[in-house]
Amino acid sequence: MHRTPSGPTDAVIHLDSVHKVYGGGKNKVAALDGVTISLRRGTFTAVMGPSGSGKSTFLHCAAGLDRPTSGSVQLDGVELSRLKEKELAKLRRERVGFVFQAFNLMPSMSVRDNITLPLRLAGRRPNAGEVDEVIERVGLTSRQKHRPGELSGGQQQRVAIARALATRPAVVFGDEPTGALDTRTAREVLGLLREAVQWAGQTIVMVTHDPVAAAHADRTLFLADGRIVDALERPTADQVAERMTHLGAWAQESVHDGQYGAAQ
Ligand code: ADP
Repeated sequence: MHRTPSGPTDAVIHLDSVHKVYGGGKNKVAALDGVTISLRRGTFTAVMGPSGSGKSTFLHCAAGLDRPTSGSVQLDGVELSRLKEKELAKLRRERVGFVFQAFNLMPSMSVRDNITLPLRLAGRRPNAGEVDEVIERVGLTSRQKHRPGELSGGQQQRVAIARALATRPAVVFGDEPTGALDTRTAREVLGLLREAVQWAGQTIVMVTHDPVAAAHADRTLFLADGRIVDALERPTADQVAERMTHLGAWAQESVHDGQYGAAQ
């Protein structure tokens, strides 16, 4: 696969002037309107913004699930626009993990088989020791033979996290991963994601509506009208909530071409 030397070297994701336009004429919507950002390896980034601000589109473009209208996306040193659909699917399978709000587990498979499924789909033989370790990390050693339906919501999300981590992907993308969980369980799951950054050097990018969830990240990016309008380093939940409250008015005044892209 073609690797390109451009872009910050320690950036695992680099978006450069990414635009994504839906529709045409009167119905034209710029879901992403010139996003330039670098995300450093081994960091946890939260993406926040009002509904319709472009969070899902950002996640889909960064993860190679969707293609920008213009601009460039590099993931783990690979320029995604150069890839054909099949190559893109392969890259996602091998280098990207996903954790969704709905856990998306296979109901007829055991916890362990769910966790090793992406490895087997990628044609890799699961290393038993490594699988044991990831299962232990998420606290499911005693549950690995159970079916997902026999587990609580929090446990099911831990299975999904273990499944995302098992392939040792370059990036794990979370789309509202705590959206279906109660507060206490959500906190546990966020703690687990945080730990994955610490023990595995995992890079995580998470879209969330929840300031408490964002407070677990190293950096929170704020989107408004398809642009990154602010970034906070290790904010508290209160700081995130405060910024969200003012985002609408603030964004209109100060949308600018500033880059929050310096990998920091
Ligand atoms: P968010 O995740 O922050 O709610 P989205 O990325 O889903 O925002 O959407 C950004 C904008 O792009 C919205 O105005 C939305 O209506 C529009 N949009 C998203 N997906 C599509 C699509 N497939 N077709 C048309 N418009 C879309």
